[in-house]
Amino acid sequence: MPRRLAAGNWKMNGTRGNLSELDALMARHPAPSVDLLLCPPATLVTQAADRVAGHPMFIGAQDCHPAPSGAHTGDLSAAMLADAGAGAVILGHSERRENHHETNALVCDKVMAAQAAGLIALACIGETLEQREGGQTLQVIAEQIAQSLPDGATPENTVIAYEPVWAIGTGLTPEIGQIAEVHDFLRQALSDRFGSGNGNGFRLLYGGSVKPANAAEIFGVDNVDGALVGGASLRADDFSPIIDALENT
Ligand code: PEP
Repeated sequence: MPRRLAAGNWKMNGTRGNLSELDALMARHPAPSVDLLLCPPATLVTQAADRVAGHPMFIGAQDCHPAPSGAHTGDLSAAMLADAGAGAVILGHSERRENHHETNALVCDKVMAAQAAGLIALACIGETLEQREGGQTLQVIAEQIAQSLPDGATPENTVIAYEPVWAIGTGLTPEIGQIAEVHDFLRQALSDRFGSGNGNGFRLLYGGSVKPANAAEIFGVDNVDGALVGGASLRADDFSPIIDALENT
């Protein structure tokens, strides 16, 4: 079974003062039995990485440009993020797919850039409400997996987060059976493409309104190897019980 992972995505939230939340998390989880990843805004990556030095928690970023360098004002390359202290980067989050019109092909280029820079690519996929209601969920997931992941993806350099778009930041979560269906489908699709040895090794995170109250039930689902947590990762008081649930389920 892959080692479980609790990942937090602070999105466009947080300034230096919020880094004290990392101290609280480290104090509550001095020797976690799962991997812990926190992705603050890029402005805080270096300070966050310095703050968690010596603790197993690692720090990630929330996006990168596919090119290694060049005339791309305002963008950051994967190598720059690695140099700043990141060990991972979230890619293809639905907010970027929607707000910045990111396609599967662009996400795939970014995943390759992250891998080339030595970062773990945390690739996000998920259907919209319209697609779910139209019965297209598994087809959309299959396309996103086929087109957003490069052939060089391995369990060591890539994590996949299934995040139904309609569940992100809404307080809505799919039924447990719906999460199970997608995660089983994902496992099979990854095994078909990358071989069962690799396919079984990829960490499959669920994301979308994970809270202390629903975490244990979600973590009890087969092929759910952890969570990508937005709102509830901002405060240690909320994120810590989710980590507890992942350790104990
Ligand atoms: C996310 O940002 O990836 C996310 C899942 O957000 P939330 O937990 O707030 O729904």
